[in-house]
Amino acid sequence: MNVTYLVTKTHNKIFLQLLSILIVMLTGAGIVAQDRLDIQQVKEGLHVITGPGGNVGVRLTSDGVILIDDKFPQDFDEIQSLVAKVSDLPVRYVINTHHHGDHSGSNAGFLQVAEIITHKNARDNMIRGNQEGLPRMIYTEETSVFLGNVEVQAFYMGRGHTNGDSVVYFPDLKTVHGGDLLHGTAPFVDYGNGGSTRGWVGTLNNILSLDFDTAIPGHGSIMDRRDVLSFRNQMEAVRARMADLIRNGLDSRDALERIKDSELSWTQAEQGLFMQRSIPGFYDEIFEEIQ
Ligand SMILES: [Zn+2]
Repeated sequence: MNVTYLVTKTHNKIFLQLLSILIVMLTGAGIVAQDRLDIQQVKEGLHVITGPGGNVGVRLTSDGVILIDDKFPQDFDEIQSLVAKVSDLPVRYVINTHHHGDHSGSNAGFLQVAEIITHKNARDNMIRGNQEGLPRMIYTEETSVFLGNVEVQAFYMGRGHTNGDSVVYFPDLKTVHGGDLLHGTAPFVDYGNGGSTRGWVGTLNNILSLDFDTAIPGHGSIMDRRDVLSFRNQMEAVRARMADLIRNGLDSRDALERIKDSELSWTQAEQGLFMQRSIPGFYDEIFEEIQ
């Protein structure tokens, strides 16, 4: 549900109430499996907080905790108490994988107790969106947090979901947190904030150049390397399919219907973010590319 960043702060409260009602309705229909936050271990020293909003990585060290993303504004207290279940130490750093409000929503809370780091473009997107809790630290190519004998790396590997996505890498655990560059159902291309599927393929190839066996997606279940590879392959396949359709005269108004293909799960997930929110921009992107 990475949609809150679209609304202004004044509408946030009403929107969140509507969102809660929607989640309750969807849960009742058995569409959303989980409507509350939960913490589970990914590997020794690394946990994930699941539930509504982006998956939060929780990296434990002997000197404190490093979080990857922090969900919605109302989740600050619950994130803190879930972290307290697995560590006696405070959160010292938060890395925002990108600017969307379901990944950086608790920044205002965490700025009181920790340093927040994000890519320069993600911070610029937060400023344009009048978001609260701007990170005090940015990077452009790569950076690391060193805490308690643990290194957590963040890389900018190119455009994709937005123009400011960080890939967070835990080298000692051979694990990545891909933010919304990885999605369990179907991805959203945020063209309004520099998203690009052409860039995304290259970015996924760069992720695959890392030595990892486990990946935390922005939303959905934990992935392995093969899942990331098939995500990359589907990105290439939907691009090739859209290009073929356009070469054969596809009108933009028919794109949503005609892109559907039984082999491509993203196009079969009608309630997924790819079909719901990405198709008009995707048509335009591929149309421009093949001119
Ligand atoms: Zn997002």
